[in-house]
Formats: sequence, structure tokens, C-alpha cells
Amino acid sequence: MTITDDIPAVMNQMLHALEAAQSQIEVLQSQVATLIVRQGLGGTLLNEPAQEGDDSLEPWVSWLIGEYELGETIPACWARHSPIRAELAALHGAHVGAVDDLQSRQSDLLAWHEGLQRSLSRIREWDRDKCRTRGHSGADR
Ligand SMILES: [Zn+2]
Repeated sequence: MTITDDIPAVMNQMLHALEAAQSQIEVLQSQVATLIVRQGLGGTLLNEPAQEGDDSLEPWVSWLIGEYELGETIPACWARHSPIRAELAALHGAHVGAVDDLQSRQSDLLAWHEGLQRSLSRIREWDRDKCRTRGHSGADR
């Protein structure tokens, strides 16, 4: 066997090493994204449940609206509508679990995106006064 006979085997090993490195980079990217979100929250604990009248969800919701271009889906007055606020609090908690938990897997984030889709559909239903298109005019609920 000559050195040139080993080239395919060596290339195969390098390919596997590259794939492993790529997967580690994806995990790190996800963790960095979480740190950026946390920084935007001014160091507040992401796991704290949002209370009524508590605006701690606001930075995360702003990030969500910007990141996923949801300005036409989530009304600006979301905090004044308890069902929408509750949906967003649940989404936030699930997002923390999907990206911030050291035990989380890539599939958790995929599941979160599927949950996001369902949640957005419910948010459209909860927005009975069409605040997202007409602006907030009715009572808080
Ligand atoms: Zn409203």
C-alpha cells in the first residue's frame, strides 16, 4: 500500500471531522443567540414567569417580532390582551427551554418553530378587535 492509496480514507476521516465541527458550530451559534437575547433583556432571568402588568416579556417579544417579521401578526398592544400575553409567555418559556437549556437538542428548536406556527394562529384568533390592522381601540382583555 502506498501513501496515495490512503488518500480516500484520510479524506473520509477529514469529512467526518468537518461534519462534527459543523454540528458543534451550530450548537455554539444557538447558544450565542441566546446570550444576545439575554443581554437584550438586561440580564433578567428568562425563566421568570411573566406577571400581569409585568413588562419583562417586552424585550423578548420585540426580538421575536423583529426576528420573524411578525409586525403584522402580533398587535403592538399585545400586553393589553391577556390571552395574547399568555400565548407569548408560553412561547417565551418554550424558547428558553429549546435554546437555553444545556440539555436541549436541535430538534427542540424545530419543535418550537412548529409550536410558534400554531401559537401565531391562535394569536390571530385572540385578536378579535383586529388591533393588528386597526390599532388598539377597545377595552383591555
Ligand atoms: Zn389591542
